[in-house]
Amino acid sequence: MNREPKTAEILCVGTELLMGNTVNTNATAIAQGLAEAGLNLYHQGVVGDNPQRLREALELALSRADVVITTGGLGPTYDDLTKETVAETLGRKLVPHEESVRWVEEYFRRLGRTPCPNNQKQAMMPEGATVFQNHNGTAPGCAVTGTGRWERKTAILLPGPPRECEPMFREQVLPYLRGESGSRLVSRSLYFYGIGESDLAQKLDRLMRESKNPTVAPYCKPGEVMLRVTARVEEGEDPAPILDPVVEEIRREAGEWLYGVNVGNLQTALVHTLLAKGLTVATAESCTGGLVAQRITSVPGASSAFEWGAVTYSCRTKHGMLGVSQKTLDKYGAVSVQTAMAMAHRARVKSGADIAVSVTGNAGPEPSEGKPVGLVYIGLESEKRTSVQEMHIRATESGGREYIRELAASRALYLALQEAKLWVK
Ligand code: AMP
Ligand code: MG
Repeated sequence: MNREPKTAEILCVGTELLMGNTVNTNATAIAQGLAEAGLNLYHQGVVGDNPQRLREALELALSRADVVITTGGLGPTYDDLTKETVAETLGRKLVPHEESVRWVEEYFRRLGRTPCPNNQKQAMMPEGATVFQNHNGTAPGCAVTGTGRWERKTAILLPGPPRECEPMFREQVLPYLRGESGSRLVSRSLYFYGIGESDLAQKLDRLMRESKNPTVAPYCKPGEVMLRVTARVEEGEDPAPILDPVVEEIRREAGEWLYGVNVGNLQTALVHTLLAKGLTVATAESCTGGLVAQRITSVPGASSAFEWGAVTYSCRTKHGMLGVSQKTLDKYGAVSVQTAMAMAHRARVKSGADIAVSVTGNAGPEPSEGKPVGLVYIGLESEKRTSVQEMHIRATESGGREYIRELAASRALYLALQEAKLWVK
């Protein structure tokens, strides 16, 4: 069974979304799920609570997608028009859905209230629909196919509140769609540090252009690139024979910059490596103000790997609290190879951790001690090694300071990760 994947379109209904009062988190959640289920998504839309414009948006979506997923407008109030408009567009009558009638009555009984006629409206469903019960509210969702012109099309209606919409989508709609599509997408995410997107793309040019199954797509963020290798497989088919050869080829071409597969980010890779090897890390930070420690401790399980962290922003505390010698600070300045090295050394001595990293630099906006903006030193000390790296980060006009801090923190995490990988414990 090798059918063309279906195309989907998301249409979120609600004036509050259009006005910018509510962030459209439903679209994000649904889009992510659709990718996993193997549907192609080419368009997303938002339309206000207006039946005419909703109908126009719906017809446009139905004209170009196999499945149109709406959220919102299923509630009991006068402005909740999605179900009526979809039913009318698809040529389906609304009829009482017995199970939903009972469900709504039961829901209100549990709350000790009696449902009003408006609530009964929520138990009306398009004729022939597959109904999705709402375990977190009263409005059920449904999937309904069209008639006439829209015979081959399906509309899926979901409630607006994310705590109702997301579970219904995950638990009921995704299995429904998987059953329909017969195939799914499986990805491996490859994380690179130290190589730019264009250099990586150049090395893998042929693969990225020509490979159709799996596809290879790059995503970049400051200082890092992620390649997502995605295979389309039939239900029950093993994706490894499709994914493995391409992942291997990428490793051959760019393995030296690859720091992990499916690891999520640098801090997660670091914490997992530390935990796997029974190692601990400590940090001493100046210009990153605790960012390195923050990123490490954001990873669940970090408590067994993160020993100690200090933010010593002034020379006084670099000396008084961390114990960097005053002579070093006076002679070389806070932003120097020597201070970075001494900070890492003192952090390791004070904490007893296996690995200590330090960051000291000038995040701007003004030069200080005659050191330019963007000059950062990252120190590392372990029982086995001492090293310092010098970075010259060219800040962009906007967000320059944050950019420098972010990149410096990433480098510190990367160096700690590289060090942890070398340990056999
Ligand atoms: P509705 O079912 O249209 O009455 O929506 C109920 C509530 O759900 C709205 O007031 C919003 O707070 C929220 N909501 C509706 N649509 C979305 C969406 N696409 N993303 C996030 N929240 C939403
Ligand atoms: Mg609404």
